[in-house]
Amino acid sequence: MSAARRVQLQENLHAVRSRIAAAAADSGRRPEDITLIAVTKTFPASDVTLLAGLGITDFGENRDQEARKKAAAVPGVRWHFVGRLQRNKARSVASYADVVHSVDRPELIAALERAAASHEKIIEILLQLSLDSDTCRGGVPAERILELARLAQESERLELIGLMAVPPLGSDPDSAYSRCADIHRELLAEHPRATAFSAGMSGDLEIAVRHGATHVRVGTALLGGRPPVLR
Ligand SMILES: *Cc1c(COP(=O)(O)O)cnc(C)c1O
Repeated sequence: MSAARRVQLQENLHAVRSRIAAAAADSGRRPEDITLIAVTKTFPASDVTLLAGLGITDFGENRDQEARKKAAAVPGVRWHFVGRLQRNKARSVASYADVVHSVDRPELIAALERAAASHEKIIEILLQLSLDSDTCRGGVPAERILELARLAQESERLELIGLMAVPPLGSDPDSAYSRCADIHRELLAEHPRATAFSAGMSGDLEIAVRHGATHVRVGTALLGGRPPVLR
């Protein structure tokens, strides 16, 4: 493990924590009420170990195969699955994930419920809100959030903790997060324990914090640039 990489991650972490603290102060919030999730996709397990050594407790991944390997390599931290999830991967994801942010359809709730039962664990879930019709990025439209929340509520092994959103490509994050915050309030009115609002990435975390984000998912600003996604 390179000492230089550790110093780089430490500096990046310091910068990201300062940004979160400043954004929290600006909106009269406490920085400790905002959980920083380090999104380590494409980066090696050694980076997870270094970040854990620097005090990060929560890690995010968006692909099952990669996530499963890293989770096995670095035990003792919390894993958040933040990517599109196929039903047939639910069992694998449930084996290591503590939290799934990308729940967006009834079949996935059913599959995760079965998977959580077979692993004899409780999984925390967030419903992923889609603000546009671009369903290839995942998410459920606002008008179906409450219906999905009611379904989640009925499951025994899934604990609905909140709402997650990725702003549509090219959208204005300020208006996108403002709309998400409105929908989060509607969700909270029926599900008072769904307090988590997972919003904000490297480029827009200040805006998300201003709109009430409780979880920011940060990759690039902590770990550096990623090669373009090939799918
Ligand atoms: C990759 C990813 C992030 C992190 O994005 P950065 O811009 O690198 O901070 C956050 N959320 C999801 C769902 C992601 O896939």
